[in-house]
Amino acid sequence: MPIHLEIDDVLTLKKPHACGTNAWQVYRLGADIGLRCKGCQRMIMLPRQKLERRIRTITRGEKTFKPERE
Ligand SMILES: [Zn+2]
Repeated sequence: MPIHLEIDDVLTLKKPHACGTNAWQVYRLGADIGLRCKGCQRMIMLPRQKLERRIRTITRGEKTFKPERE
């Protein structure tokens, strides 16, 4: 089952970006998820399944939690 994600969620992944930051903001949802690096602003698209395996935590508003399958 997919992990529930929302626009503007901030994700930390299992590996940091090349710029050293490990925080990505979701800007697009779909079969591919669009992410913007919070450090260097680079934008990437990742297939949802590939991304889901890499998510360590999700920050939504004030809350940070581990991904839960819905
Ligand atoms: Zn970056």
